[in-house]
Amino acid sequence: MPDTPRRFIAGAVCPRCGLMDKIVVAVGGQERLCVSCGYSDARPEGPAVEPKTRVTRGAARRVETPAEAVRLIDTGTAGSDAVDPDAAE
Ligand SMILES: [Zn+2]
Repeated sequence: MPDTPRRFIAGAVCPRCGLMDKIVVAVGGQERLCVSCGYSDARPEGPAVEPKTRVTRGAARRVETPAEAVRLIDTGTAGSDAVDPDAAE
């Protein structure tokens, strides 16, 4: 089907030849194909080969890490009272 419109999947790596950005997917989304080595797969699975749409992007954004307190651990200071402007002069 040479007339089937296809789109490249950014960042997709071919499972056979290992090259990146060589995977195209038919607009219908039922077949992925490597333009480098000719590898083809009838049913793309997983988010890596799923065409990016507003729907999938919204779903990805829904995954949020919970807010968490950040602890700053000071490991580089030599003295205990290094930050004292009056003691410096
Ligand atoms: Zn390939």
